[in-house]
Amino acid sequence: MADNSSVGSVAYAGVYVLDLPLAAECIYDYVIPEQLAGKVFPGTIVKVPFSRANHSRLAVVVRIKDSCEYDKVKPVLAVATDRISLDEEMLGLCSFLKERTFCTFTDALHTVAGPVDKIAKGHLKAINEYNYFLTETGANATVRGSVINRILSALKDKSPLTKTELKALGAGKAQLDKLCAQGLIRCESLELFRNSYENKANSPEEASLSEAQKRAYNELAEELDSHKARAALLYGITGSGKTRVIKALIDRTVQSGRSVIVLVPEISLTVQTVELFCSYYGKRVAVLHSSLSPAERFDARRRIESGEIDVVIGTRSAIFAPLKNLGMIVLDEEQEHTYKSDMSPKYHTKDIARYRAAYHNAFMLLSSATPSFESFYKAESGSYKLVRLTERYGDATLPEVIIADGRLDAAKADTSVIGSTLCEEIQKNLDRNEQSILFVNRRGYNNFVSCVMCGQVITCPNCSVSLTLHKKKSSVGGTLVCHYCNYKIPMPKLCPSCNSEHLSFKGYGTQLVEDELIQKFPKARILRMDADTVSGKAQSEDAVFKHEQILNDFRNRKADILLGTQMVTKGHDFPDVTLVGIVNADSALYLDDYRATERAFSLITQVIGRAGRASKPGRAVIQTYNPENETLGYSSRQDYEGFYNSAIKLRRALVFPPFCDFALLTLSSEKEHELFAATNELDKRLREMIGQSGEYRDIAATAFRPIEAPVYKVNNVYRMRLVIKCKFTKRLREMISILLDEFTSKYPSVLLSADINPTNI
Ligand code: ADP
Ligand code: ZN
Ligand code: ZN
Repeated sequence: MADNSSVGSVAYAGVYVLDLPLAAECIYDYVIPEQLAGKVFPGTIVKVPFSRANHSRLAVVVRIKDSCEYDKVKPVLAVATDRISLDEEMLGLCSFLKERTFCTFTDALHTVAGPVDKIAKGHLKAINEYNYFLTETGANATVRGSVINRILSALKDKSPLTKTELKALGAGKAQLDKLCAQGLIRCESLELFRNSYENKANSPEEASLSEAQKRAYNELAEELDSHKARAALLYGITGSGKTRVIKALIDRTVQSGRSVIVLVPEISLTVQTVELFCSYYGKRVAVLHSSLSPAERFDARRRIESGEIDVVIGTRSAIFAPLKNLGMIVLDEEQEHTYKSDMSPKYHTKDIARYRAAYHNAFMLLSSATPSFESFYKAESGSYKLVRLTERYGDATLPEVIIADGRLDAAKADTSVIGSTLCEEIQKNLDRNEQSILFVNRRGYNNFVSCVMCGQVITCPNCSVSLTLHKKKSSVGGTLVCHYCNYKIPMPKLCPSCNSEHLSFKGYGTQLVEDELIQKFPKARILRMDADTVSGKAQSEDAVFKHEQILNDFRNRKADILLGTQMVTKGHDFPDVTLVGIVNADSALYLDDYRATERAFSLITQVIGRAGRASKPGRAVIQTYNPENETLGYSSRQDYEGFYNSAIKLRRALVFPPFCDFALLTLSSEKEHELFAATNELDKRLREMIGQSGEYRDIAATAFRPIEAPVYKVNNVYRMRLVIKCKFTKRLREMISILLDEFTSKYPSVLLSADINPTNI
């Protein structure tokens, strides 16, 4: 214990201790002992004694001050590592995340700075290559000793040699060290970076912008050049060349000496964009996404920190790339739900982008063919600059849309999933040797298996969902899989409840559609792309990941039909694709989320947008039982603004986002009884707080009654939800924090978490 009563120049470090539960988390003060004076700053990772037992724990220093209100303060034990520390911006981001998303500091820290604890403990570290050179002394020396003869003569033939090469000659570390000490050889170490994208740099094709693209570029460049934290929305129809405009803006930013982050919604959707940028910027680009190994991520970060990177391209978490001197942040397809994190910290990438743009006076560019209502509203009302691209590039025209009414086939008792119209169009494409893309919204074979005799649906024992049948082409049997917890059993022959052998199969996914395609078009070459076929790294020369391999194969005409889940719907640019098919549009149109139509519009518009992107005109076949559906009409015409204008009226009338925010409180527990008790009390407490005489009546919030989560049980955890309609203000955050604190201490077996404007309500 340090007694600070008599000393004048003592400094104190305020720290967050890592891995504490939310309720125990606050800034703890420690005195900085003399031997650490000048070594501890905000952002330093230190070791501190914690709790009564004084266990040594990792902590992050967030502030330094020269007085402390407590008499007895424990000392900082040591600086834990010099491999990593946080700068002012990163520390600020941690606090921002903690305050806005109600997460622990540790969760925020890992999100912002990577696995700090692993790095501090040396579990994740740089790899070095050691190169040995022959010195002049060594070249002239005559030395005895067989191994030492051998080392020197090998180096006389070729210098330098790596440590590995010398080891193969029998050179041990001791011998090499000795020769270095004698000045006969010298060693240089070089950091190696693990980088799957290294080989992507090649000589890119140059393209000049069209007149319309130039206009858009000029308008956006003006914002960029202002060196202010401005924001713009580039709204351009599919195939209008948004990527080219963005590329030109990146060039401009990099030329002015500033760096760029380009975010894409999903790495499998954007292989091409990634490759385009890699080919242009070569070693100056780093790619960050979740399929990288921890070592690759770590090395990518180090390359960025070393200042050799101008452009970072990646998915959501790449927003935290430690670039200095940011000039521009781009969110491509900004409406995508993948920009919202659904794990703690539950942040929206746009909010982080705003924060970083403000910090660096950088430009935030949102780009989309179907902007989110929030963004288009902001653009319309002037907080973002709105820039439009209204035509497809070159000779390309928008595809002809054919609505295929499923009732007509049903009337003919045709139960095929691929209806007659879509069949005809696929056949035409096969005859003409043109390519087709088919979108199916689920993976697997059948979505559920039920018993004809007793009516039971086979469900997951751990989750309240049906099991999905997965099986190989036309085989019998198969595996039943839970898409929530990955529980798997072999397909039973008899009903598990009544032993009847009459089982029926309903709902379909990509595997069944693939089977049907094979039967209908035996000669067609088909590629399937869904979560089951893309996981893991590829084994081919031209691709690092499996999704790349599938897309490359399709691009190289190794298949006629690409069939898949939403992975095939967006972003891709295949000039030979002239037909797209949406196998079941209704599955997207009828969901009970207030944003369901917005999403359906976006999805259908994007799928249609994959066809006819080059000189050959394209067609889109949309299968539906509801051909009159309004949303379908708007997306068939690719009429975003028409759709927006009609839908925004309803949002305004109902006071739904963007005219309000939603806070979702989720309670979860393995103990159903305690969950109910906690839910009831939360409901009561909340109503008290925002009620007429409550301490938070001023925030004008409405609380809906608690209900079960759409999937009530996942992995044996039961979940209840409570939705608050509100404005996301400081007062609201304060109230939610109080609720979280109260309930965490009162119901230790119930987890209460908050999510602001979640992707699903
Ligand atoms: P978007 O992202 O708006 O859907 P893309 O940027 O993918 O559109 O462009 C559509 C197609 O048109 C791509 O094949 C692209 O290479 C081509 N293209 C767009 N602009 C140009 C240009 N200025 N010069 C050459 N090709 C272009
Ligand atoms: Zn049965
Ligand atoms: Zn399950």
